[in-house]
Amino acid sequence: MSYVFTPPPAVSLPVRGQDDRFPVHRVYCVGRNYAEHAIEMGHDPDKEPPFFFQKNPDNLIVPDLKFPYPPQSNDVHHEIEMVVALKKGGTDIPVEDALECVYGYAVSLDMTRRDLQGQMKKLGRPWEIGKAFEMSAPCGEIVPASDIGHPENGAVWLKVNGELRQEGDLNQMLWKVPEMISYLSGLFTLVPGDIIMSGTPAGVGPVVRGDVMHGHVEGVGDLVVNVV
Ligand code: MN
Repeated sequence: MSYVFTPPPAVSLPVRGQDDRFPVHRVYCVGRNYAEHAIEMGHDPDKEPPFFFQKNPDNLIVPDLKFPYPPQSNDVHHEIEMVVALKKGGTDIPVEDALECVYGYAVSLDMTRRDLQGQMKKLGRPWEIGKAFEMSAPCGEIVPASDIGHPENGAVWLKVNGELRQEGDLNQMLWKVPEMISYLSGLFTLVPGDIIMSGTPAGVGPVVRGDVMHGHVEGVGDLVVNVV
């Protein structure tokens, strides 16, 4: 096979305790999956069907975990999220079979140009310019479920410069991991390598250059990212 120009390198994430890397296919993100965060964004926390948006696979790759403050925004927010990494896909996956699709979990940040997202919401337009910009999804190493199981409870928090900003628990997710996989597989054909960012607890807020973000998901790990 030859190409008209050199294709970009395949996107992959490191795996804890292994030399082999996790090859990424798509990145799906769940919106408003914690009630307190839905409320802080001005929405009803009642359990509605989940909704999804996507980021680009290469948005996960942030060299040296230095997040460059993006252009065209003055209100870039942190959203700490647990990543679900799939080793198996399918369509119309039953909830009770969904965890068999999970390879592992990771800690990530759904960085958001909140001002641009807000403008797009108001106009009824897609969110990409607020969500899917360069390096908008810093992600730590994938931790295999074979090592840690499938976390259902546990603290999720984010500190900025040592100060606690976001705090929640995995058990507060409106749509649990098996439910989101099942629901998503009714809309898309999931394949090995797909990543799901599972939503963020309350406390989202802005960062500025020089800030140090420290995210934690109990049972999965830590992620420290500098804003540059
Ligand atoms: Mn998010």
